[in-house]
Amino acid sequence: MSVSSPPGRRYAIAIGLAASAVLFRWLLDPWLPGGQISLVALPAVTAASVWFGGYRAGILTAALAYVSCDYLFTDGFGFGPYTSVDLIRLIAVALSTTIIIVFGEGARIVAAVKQRARAAEAERKTHEQFHRLADSAPVLIWTSGVDKKCTWFNRQWLEFVGRPMEREIGDGWTENVHPDDLQRCLQTYVNSFDARVPFSMEYRLRRADGEYRWLLDTGTATQGPDGGFTGYIGSCVDITDRSRAERALQATQERFSRFMRHLPGLAWIKDLEGRYVFVNDAAVIAFGMPRDALYGRTDADIFPADAAAMFAENDRRALATGGGMQTVEVLEHDDGVLHHSLVSKFPIPGPGGEPVWVGGIAIDITERKRAEDALEEADRRKTDFLATLSHELRNPLAPIRNSLELVRRAGTDPSVISRSLDVMDRQTTHMVRLVDDLLDVNRITRDRLELRRSRISLGDVLRQAIETCAELAERGGHSIDLSLPDAPVYLDADPIRLVQVFGNLLNNACKYSARPGCIRVSVRTSGSSVVVSVADDGIGIPGDSLERIFEMFAQVGGSQSLGSLGIGLTLARRLIELHGGSVEAKSDGVGCGSEFVVTLPIAASQAVERPADAPSAVETAALPLRVLVVDDNEDSAESLATLLTFGGHQTATAHDGPEALALAERFLPHVAILDVGLPTFSGHEVCRLLRTQPWGRDIFIVALTGWGQEEDRRKSIEAGFDDHFVKPLDSDKLLSRLRTIPAHRT
Ligand code: ADP
Repeated sequence: MSVSSPPGRRYAIAIGLAASAVLFRWLLDPWLPGGQISLVALPAVTAASVWFGGYRAGILTAALAYVSCDYLFTDGFGFGPYTSVDLIRLIAVALSTTIIIVFGEGARIVAAVKQRARAAEAERKTHEQFHRLADSAPVLIWTSGVDKKCTWFNRQWLEFVGRPMEREIGDGWTENVHPDDLQRCLQTYVNSFDARVPFSMEYRLRRADGEYRWLLDTGTATQGPDGGFTGYIGSCVDITDRSRAERALQATQERFSRFMRHLPGLAWIKDLEGRYVFVNDAAVIAFGMPRDALYGRTDADIFPADAAAMFAENDRRALATGGGMQTVEVLEHDDGVLHHSLVSKFPIPGPGGEPVWVGGIAIDITERKRAEDALEEADRRKTDFLATLSHELRNPLAPIRNSLELVRRAGTDPSVISRSLDVMDRQTTHMVRLVDDLLDVNRITRDRLELRRSRISLGDVLRQAIETCAELAERGGHSIDLSLPDAPVYLDADPIRLVQVFGNLLNNACKYSARPGCIRVSVRTSGSSVVVSVADDGIGIPGDSLERIFEMFAQVGGSQSLGSLGIGLTLARRLIELHGGSVEAKSDGVGCGSEFVVTLPIAASQAVERPADAPSAVETAALPLRVLVVDDNEDSAESLATLLTFGGHQTATAHDGPEALALAERFLPHVAILDVGLPTFSGHEVCRLLRTQPWGRDIFIVALTGWGQEEDRRKSIEAGFDDHFVKPLDSDKLLSRLRTIPAHRT
């Protein structure tokens, strides 16, 4: 029992002790002389009461015990009558109990002081032990009081911040907290403190060397011996390295998942039992199963048995090689298409270095494979084409050479000369057509085919096309019927290109009719379109080739031997498409004839464009003109010069830029015909230089080139040319053009 019991309890003890003294007196009563009070128990109960309840309790016990015994046991029941002896006895009792109370209280105070001293000593020891323990702990420790101010920091803390205790206690510690973290940090501290709940927070604290380190600070409320709140205690761990490692891990994971997300293919990892443990987004989509459902499954659960067996076998091989392997895996997808994937499989070692997973990356190469196959096919066709081309180019050369020889030997026999010239003309025209087609192929592949549209009559176009192959038809004994609607049909189209298309269809109809046949060209309108059919009763086309014949260099059966290159229909289709139309082939099969159906849009307005007003008559230059011909191909230059001489002009020839410039200065030509592809300076440069000369400004300069696109013409005009002629040169056209040169230019 403590000397410092609560007051209520103390007085209860006092009363109890008084009662026990009375009880004791009552028990002794039979043996005590009548009327005598025995106060035998009074000193004892008073002393006990003082000890346990203090001097007030002692007084209460003594008074109660004395008065009760006096009333109950002295001279019968009740108080009085009092004698002087009673008075003396009272005084004696009072004195003795006072002495007991004084001594008792004194002893009690001494005991209390001793107890407090012991308690203080115990507390000091506890604190000391705690501080010693805290100083030896490998963490930073702090304590704070009920006013939230910090009261103590352990040695680790002070060494960490490199500051003495005096600077840290109170709010001093906040000076080292990173400014970006302080507000958040104080907020957590204060809120937890007010709610008396534990907290945990991360913040940066400046170390003695100036480096901010991340700490994990965990705090909890403390209680005194009486259970009252005494403040907070917290411990901090330096987690800089851990958070760095965590951040590095996070960054690695982020990098990994980003990489996997953007990988142009599927990626996965399986364990050694073939169960998926990782799949990237692309694989989730391709496998058609949520990621969670995929994990734990094997290929056998997902794919058809044969595919799963192939995958498992490749996994096994990848594991066996150690370094992984690449292969092509084929899988039929839900859409029924066979997909080829380039797959890389490799073992992934676990922590022990032994492979515990198989990684895989698959890239769908179906398209690439298709493209490769197509490329191979195109290459094969190109090779065939080149062989055919050289054959086709050589073919006309033999008759030309023979004819030349004939002319040379014929002397003055006009019939031989005339026949030979006809042959040469025909063969040259054929060669020109071949070369033109080749140039068009080049334009098609470079997407540079252009149209020169005008309002034209379809009937005129078809008649011209028939004319172009009249001779071929005649030689083959074919008839060509043209049936047109009553009303003329007008198109906004390029007449030259349409003549080329229909000429080609008719040419084919003649070529691919083994015996004399009938070729029908019929036209009908259908809504806003016109449909032209070119039908023959020739060799026909197998059903599976009806589309293929429109592909570049495509030839069917033995058509290679018929003087063809396999590009005519490709050109025809492209040209018709450029006009907004379509072309398709029909045939009931080999020997059943063929029909080519061309659909074209009709011109919105069927009104015929009035031809532009004829230019007002301009006085034109008088002959002879001085014409400078510049071409690095000497034969070309000389033959053209000769032709011009026949046309009544004076000529001079040069074969490169510098020579042309020097000659022009002496010759002062009215006209210069410049090959564009000259060595040293290009024809464009020669033209520009000529234009810088006072005598060169008015020269009528003509560009001569193999390039005839709109852009090529524009470039020539920009360089200062007056006109642009495409090789092979049509000499009649050139001579007529020279006749239109205005007189003031000469
Ligand atoms: P080319 O006639 O120069 O070979 P084309 O592109 O014009 O090239 O024709 C491609 C192929 O289409 C020809 O080689 C031939 O096999 C087939 N073809 C074209 N027109 C006909 C036709 N009227 N009758 C039968 N086959 C044809």
